[in-house]
Amino acid sequence: MEKQQEAARPESKGPKRQRRPRRKHNKSSANATGAKTPAAEQESDELWSIQDFKVPEVEGKVRFHDLNLPDRVLKAIQKMGFEYCSEIQAATLPATLQGYDLIGQAQTGTGKTAAFLIAMISDFLDYPVEGERPNHFPRGLIIAPTRELALQIADEAEKLTKYTNLNVVSLVGGMDYDKQRNQLETEIVDLVVATPGRLLDFARNKKVMLNKVECVVLDEADRMLSMGFIPDVKSIIRMTPHKERRQTMLFSATFPKDIQALARQWTFHPQEVSVVPKETTNKNIDQVIYTVSDDQKWPILKKLIEENDYQRTIIFANRRDETRDLNEKLKQANINCAMLSGEVSQDKRVKTLSKFKDGSIQVLVATDVAGRGIHVDNIDLVVNYTLPEDPEDYVHRIGRTGRGGEMGKSVSFATENDSFMIPEIEATIGASIRCEYVRDQD
Ligand code: AMP
Repeated sequence: MEKQQEAARPESKGPKRQRRPRRKHNKSSANATGAKTPAAEQESDELWSIQDFKVPEVEGKVRFHDLNLPDRVLKAIQKMGFEYCSEIQAATLPATLQGYDLIGQAQTGTGKTAAFLIAMISDFLDYPVEGERPNHFPRGLIIAPTRELALQIADEAEKLTKYTNLNVVSLVGGMDYDKQRNQLETEIVDLVVATPGRLLDFARNKKVMLNKVECVVLDEADRMLSMGFIPDVKSIIRMTPHKERRQTMLFSATFPKDIQALARQWTFHPQEVSVVPKETTNKNIDQVIYTVSDDQKWPILKKLIEENDYQRTIIFANRRDETRDLNEKLKQANINCAMLSGEVSQDKRVKTLSKFKDGSIQVLVATDVAGRGIHVDNIDLVVNYTLPEDPEDYVHRIGRTGRGGEMGKSVSFATENDSFMIPEIEATIGASIRCEYVRDQD
């Protein structure tokens, strides 16, 4: 059995010091990117050429054209409407496409998902698996702390692999176990996008084998730490090939000491890239703290939503019961809202998110865990109904707005019970936040 697996193994990546050379891609080399189904082949190669993807050269910007990517990936990138690399993509792709490990400091909204997916997918296309391969041996593994984030990564992976025969499978908790098991049993799996618990479950039961994984991505590592997933992630990493024989990319918005240590332990001569510029993030977000009493919070919130013309808003609270109460109050005020918290079923959460995305829900009330990884563009307002206990959550929360160069607004309520946390939050974001004292109105 072991022999058979070895035979099915793709060309070895070898020790990381001997990086795999990039394949050259030009119009005529598109066919060298891996065996395709006839339909995919036709659509990818005959009906589309790089000539269809016209992006002018602009000084200081990196075009995807400049990175020697397979045409199938370029076509997907074009269909997704991307033209130039985002900062994290421009900073990481030249190295990650060569197989280098990466420690990346980047928040959501920077384009980090496409950054790691494009590197992984291009490599898999450049070095297709020769011959037979057992179903449940993925080539790429992406681990994310929450289901929402994992599903959004899987969604982007589906789009980027649309013109290839690479198969993406999500293994996430709270969703149909049997369906996921069935996929592992019946489909060739190239990329697995997973949350730690469910993945470990499948891996321990040998439903998915991780010892042939070529590339591992750990997304939002700081969040995995704060959610207590590190022991699970450690067990998972131990099941993958040694770090010299796999590519590892670790992303985190913040780098507390524990994450720095794990990042060192899990990567091999990594490139280190930091693209957070907190100042930039903050510049795009008009942040204000209202010092209020508990009684003032609700009327001010209602007024804020009204004044903001019921535009897309996320309200964060620290506890489930707070989100539940707020959701009720908003409903009674005829505000089109829904909540995302641990007590909402996974199916419902996915539906809620898609309604929020299409605009049929305008206000979302969320806890940090549930609100994590909400990748919805054009969120106008983020309200911290209660200040987060962990200042890093503040960064994550307000990062939902002011994305992609748009201006966003965040309003945080601080009461006498929690305003002692403001200095720590300011230290974390590296800037002071405007505070306004709200008087009682009679
Ligand atoms: P992320 O930081 O991965 O959550 O990405 C934030 C958003 O930016 C997502 O909606 C992506 O689809 C989008 N995006 C990623 N890369 C680019 C790019 N190069 N150009 C335009 N949009 C992008």
